[in-house]
Amino acid sequence: LQRHLNRLDRLNLIGEMAAGIAHEIRNPMTTIQGFLQIWRKSETPMSKEHIDLMLSELLRANTIITEYLSLAGNKTSHFDVLAVQELVDSLSPLLQAVAVMAEKQVEVRHDADDVWLRADANEMRQVILNLAKNGLEAMEPGGRLTIRTHADNGAAVIDVIDEGPGIPDEVLERLGTPFFTTKDHGTGLGLALCYSIMERHQGSIGVTSGPLGTMFSVRLPIVPRPVTAPASDEKQGGNDE
Ligand code: ADP
Ligand code: MG
Repeated sequence: LQRHLNRLDRLNLIGEMAAGIAHEIRNPMTTIQGFLQIWRKSETPMSKEHIDLMLSELLRANTIITEYLSLAGNKTSHFDVLAVQELVDSLSPLLQAVAVMAEKQVEVRHDADDVWLRADANEMRQVILNLAKNGLEAMEPGGRLTIRTHADNGAAVIDVIDEGPGIPDEVLERLGTPFFTTKDHGTGLGLALCYSIMERHQGSIGVTSGPLGTMFSVRLPIVPRPVTAPASDEKQGGNDE
């Protein structure tokens, strides 16, 4: 099943997300309030378990606010001409660390050499990181996440491929809708953030999913290689991993 996602309509709702965020923040606050009220009435000290629960609720509220701010904040992007391989490689150590903690593996592969694009490096890292995190979270321990860069029809493509169970149709339809999550501790803001960044970059995100896994494909227009750039064979790493 293949779908090409265009979420402009949903991203235009970002203003209306203020109502959504109020609701999302109220849940953790209500939980904490409830615990504190019970604690105040009772003479018994609060258990570590309850404190941990309150802390994790605070953490969740904090994450929601942070992600919302990076989503709704109309900060101006800073565009540079970047090599797609270097962009992905710069994330590799972080991804490897996340994967090891989650008992999974990450493999980075560059099929086409020397593909350049115009992008805000930090924003693009956020996109790749969010897609990779979703892929890692979808897999059982031992699963392998592959990040592949290549050129296709004038586009620089970054594929993020997991070996998870795939995305059911009813979930696929709602991807990118702010606060839509199927996870117990998800925020449902990761993909919304990816779509909004890709919109600013005049790029797109496609998704192909089946029972053997999911592939998110980020596409951005290729730009000519800058004349000042070092020759590709001077760069370390070359064409293989
Ligand atoms: P979150 O990760 O906080 O749930 P996202 O916006 O990143 O929010 O993702 C929204 C939902 O999309 C997830 O809860 C999950 O159901 C689904 N999803 C995204 N990526 C994948 C994937 N690679 N495999 C399976 N499901 C996915
Ligand atoms: Mg996510």
